[in-house]
Amino acid sequence: MNLTYQKEGRNCPVCRSEESQLLFRTRFSKISDNYLLDSYDVVACKTCGFCFADQIPNQGVFDKYYKNMSKYEESKSLSMDSQYDVKRFNQIVEFINSNIKDKNSRIVEIGCATGLLLSLLKKKGFNNLLGIDPSPSCVETIRNKYGIPSLLGTITDLSSIKAESVDLVILVGVLEHIRDLNLALMEIRNVLRSDGKICIVVPDASQYLNGNDAPFQEFSVEHINYFGPGSLINLMISQNFSKVVIDQQVFEVNFNTFTPVILNLFKKSKEKEKQFKYDMGTVTNFKEYIINCYEREKSIHDKIEKINIDKKPLIIWGTGAQTLRLLANSDLSKANIIAFVDSNPKYHGKKLNDISIISPEELKNMKETILISTRAYQNEIEDQIRQVLKLKNTIIKLY
Ligand SMILES: [Zn+2]
Repeated sequence: MNLTYQKEGRNCPVCRSEESQLLFRTRFSKISDNYLLDSYDVVACKTCGFCFADQIPNQGVFDKYYKNMSKYEESKSLSMDSQYDVKRFNQIVEFINSNIKDKNSRIVEIGCATGLLLSLLKKKGFNNLLGIDPSPSCVETIRNKYGIPSLLGTITDLSSIKAESVDLVILVGVLEHIRDLNLALMEIRNVLRSDGKICIVVPDASQYLNGNDAPFQEFSVEHINYFGPGSLINLMISQNFSKVVIDQQVFEVNFNTFTPVILNLFKKSKEKEKQFKYDMGTVTNFKEYIINCYEREKSIHDKIEKINIDKKPLIIWGTGAQTLRLLANSDLSKANIIAFVDSNPKYHGKKLNDISIISPEELKNMKETILISTRAYQNEIEDQIRQVLKLKNTIIKLY
């Protein structure tokens, strides 16, 4: 697969201004044939205060990535749904149930992965559901596992859905991934009935400091928009939607891992509402979050320094955003790494910094120290090494 692409400057997706302030520059090491971004600039719009990733490829590159490389199918279709997913999706279902009274409402979830949210809505009695996802495997899983209709599609191409036929569009964890937000919202407007609504759930950039996750985790390889309530309202107003309700919550996404989110409902409106306001609250909190991440990451750099003193051979478990970032921004790349391990089969046989990515089973005869490089799954992986694989290798944890 040819992954050569041009990076392009990005006007503010909310107000289209070209004037922005650089807040942070992030870099990632690349997995062979399987990467989306190797760097981006986090900027704040000088006109409206929206924070977003600049210098990124065009929307076509993102569409292709989500179609071919989706990690969401692997993690959710092979195993049972995690108790954390069930809990937070039930919180979203409660929100929808309290705001949408008619159980016959035509509801479409875009970017529905393997359909857990749709299945919980079905249990609540909603009976006119449709899932849309760019991954063929996800679409199949929803049909087979829950008997819910589903179609292949992306948020920037909803041509498979009849115009003005939908009462509610649901977007959970989607808008933070989309480069062309205006195009996406125009497509959604087009499929909504005149009184149609849209339910959006995105990480809350005005509350990042209230979350609990690895440093800089909000700047992952895939997240390119950082909404606070103010900028989300600005964006929706610019596309002729008006606010129905906005709720700020903190979701427990994994063991001891918390993500602040905005849960909200907007409705299609005929004319544009009032002019937007500068989103001061988000920018202020967002800058503090970046400073806080640098502080918290110091202890990780110290551990890496200690690992590098004796240069013993090292196996690194986890090739997620944190590893990619540490390889590009710390001395981890100078460690004597002999292999990377990841449980996602899509990564096996690929290379990272010219070193092979292997499956957990391939660790069987390896005696070297294992560094676990993830915060959210650290304890699960330790259990897998000791209880499932029964390995006695020395383990180093970063948290
Ligand atoms: Zn702007």
